[in-house]
Amino acid sequence: MIVAMQEKATEEQIDAVIDAMTEAGVGVHRTTGATQTILAGVGPTATVDLSKFELLPGVEHVHRISSPYKLAGRGFRPEGTVIEFRNGVKLGGEQILAMAGPCSIENKAQIFETAARVKAAGGTFLRGGAFKPRSSPYAFQGLGIPGLELMREAADAHGLLVVSEVMEIAQIEPMLQLVDLFQVGARNMQNFNLLRELGQVDKPVLLKRGIAATIEELLLSSEYILSGGNYNVALCERGIRTYETATRNTMDISAIPVVKKLSHLPIVADPSHGTGRRDMVAPMAKASVAAGADAIIVEVHPNADKAASDAAQTLYLDQFDKLMAELRVIAAAVGRTL
Ligand code: PEP
Ligand code: MN
Repeated sequence: MIVAMQEKATEEQIDAVIDAMTEAGVGVHRTTGATQTILAGVGPTATVDLSKFELLPGVEHVHRISSPYKLAGRGFRPEGTVIEFRNGVKLGGEQILAMAGPCSIENKAQIFETAARVKAAGGTFLRGGAFKPRSSPYAFQGLGIPGLELMREAADAHGLLVVSEVMEIAQIEPMLQLVDLFQVGARNMQNFNLLRELGQVDKPVLLKRGIAATIEELLLSSEYILSGGNYNVALCERGIRTYETATRNTMDISAIPVVKKLSHLPIVADPSHGTGRRDMVAPMAKASVAAGADAIIVEVHPNADKAASDAAQTLYLDQFDKLMAELRVIAAAVGRTL
């Protein structure tokens, strides 16, 4: 950490800050410049609350130079994490993966037709919510475990893997045999009890960025899972709430290279929730692949206009075919396959 003192800071104020840093277990290196004194702190600064130093008399500003997320930080695994699934599928490697399916699992015909088309288009994961976090308690809440059983059957019939959202700790156990990847939704990114529990599970986790979360908060949330011993975590940019109203959320494409720089965890892009509009999904999916995403996750449905949830952002199956063909060209341009 670095503490820059104000130009007019007194020796007493500087000493008080040095004492406070020492008390926090931080070793202090003092540099007295012509106009300003700088105090560099080394040691266990990752866990020190910097805001209390900002309030001390004579302090101009304080900033952290070491990462507060030890296990999620790029330095922990500079070569990057590759998550291995069955069928030889790898997330975070040279191949970019496509995950697609309906927002919600609705019935057998819907999920089987979707699975066939996702596979034919080159997808590797079938997505679909069985437990749905809906803004309104009166909206369709999902089919629960029976829905997930249908999706597992459909995925197995077509050689696909399954990703589905877990909303609470009690759902982990019944979902464990039915999914290949647990999704933690945006609304649960800071459900720390759920994250801790997923840290104990031997199954990869896809952690979505919260609706109003910073990238640092996303990385700190991943730390809850990693610190429990589950290192198979992928992050997901799915759009954030901004003042813009033209799209449902603002798809933060820049989060992709930022996460790649700060962390070794694979990053997945969700342009469906990122934009909320069917006509914007393909452009943002393409931008995400160009920006370095390791996978895309998109909502598709055999009868997209009638989808039980998120219909407006759900692609027609033909649109998904076209998108996959376009993404292959972009993947090749950035030295990857799809
Ligand atoms: C979803 O994937 O359908 C979903 C609810 O996503 P998010 O948590 O990003 O809103
Ligand atoms: Mn959805």
